Amino acid sequence: MKNRIKRDLMDLMMVPGLSGHEDRVRRFLRGRLEAMGVASRSDRLGNLVAHFPGVGPRVMLFAHMDQLGFIVRRIEADGLIRLARLGGVPERALAAQQVLICVGEGRDIPGIIANKSHHATTLSEKYQVTPFAELYVDTGLSCAAEVEAAGIRIGAPVVYAPQAVELGNDRICGTCVDDRAGCAVLIEMARLLKDRTSGPPVDLAFTVLEEFNLRGAQPLAQVLQPDIAIQLDLMLATDTPDMGARGDMVLGGGPGMSLYSFHGRGTLNGVIPHPAMVDLFERAAKTAGIPLQRSAQVGVLTDLSYVQLTGEGVAAIDMGFPMRYSHSARELCDLDDLVSLTRLLDVALGGIGPEFSLDRDDYT
Ligand SMILES: [Zn+2]
Repeated sequence: MKNRIKRDLMDLMMVPGLSGHEDRVRRFLRGRLEAMGVASRSDRLGNLVAHFPGVGPRVMLFAHMDQLGFIVRRIEADGLIRLARLGGVPERALAAQQVLICVGEGRDIPGIIANKSHHATTLSEKYQVTPFAELYVDTGLSCAAEVEAAGIRIGAPVVYAPQAVELGNDRICGTCVDDRAGCAVLIEMARLLKDRTSGPPVDLAFTVLEEFNLRGAQPLAQVLQPDIAIQLDLMLATDTPDMGARGDMVLGGGPGMSLYSFHGRGTLNGVIPHPAMVDLFERAAKTAGIPLQRSAQVGVLTDLSYVQLTGEGVAAIDMGFPMRYSHSARELCDLDDLVSLTRLLDVALGGIGPEFSLDRDDYT
């Protein structure tokens, strides 16, 4: 299982799929599902879903397939390119990054985000982050006409140059571990779901636009009308010197369960999980002998926030894997966490029978 998840994750990270431009990732995922004999369909926004029939409350199990990045905003006369940001892009981690301007499969153009020559950097600039508006991309092409001839137009999607690196101890570093790692776990779940003989009906979904507006999954949920929604994404690992005060989430320490997420700053949303879901995953972890880590974070948010508000309301929970260095071009996760998250989900789904109660009074 670990090798399959590793291969899926490494492959998925190499496929560019900026929010609103997920099509290559969707085709890749559909291909992986087809190869194991699982049919899937997509909606108009590009969400991809595979249905596994069963008995009991309807479960929507999902992860987002898009990634954050940039859009070409302006092409200067000298061929340098200005970007608009898409999603929570960290300015601090941008200088000298390699990017990929996605003009079409096989025709993508590499570029680098410039970093002012060190020899010309003044003392006051030394510890300053360059404001986003002042950054530019150098593709080597030397005038606007050359850039346009290469297929680069205003509105073209730009992502961090795709990379996937195996580090020590089965740790994987790469672009958009958020949330291709969630997608890799979902592919493995599809392998398990297609062979099971009992369990609830499950809609396994790869969603769009999460990094852009958090709401791409919403129309899909409106159609699926799930009773239960389980979302897979990163949990902020807090075991590095810069993160210690934020929580107790250890990379390699097992899957995570979010008890609280909230985002203010204009969004005003979050998830406080349904008590039936917390109970389900605590019991599943005990049964499977898997350590389950707890997360409660402000400033973190997923598309589940909107999915939970569908229909009569959905019993929702964010599950995930510890991850370091979020939204940088080099995010880091631990393969063992992905394996144990898959095992935990498998046991938890098996625990959702026809009599499974979603009545809050049974749990509180
Ligand atoms: Zn994410």
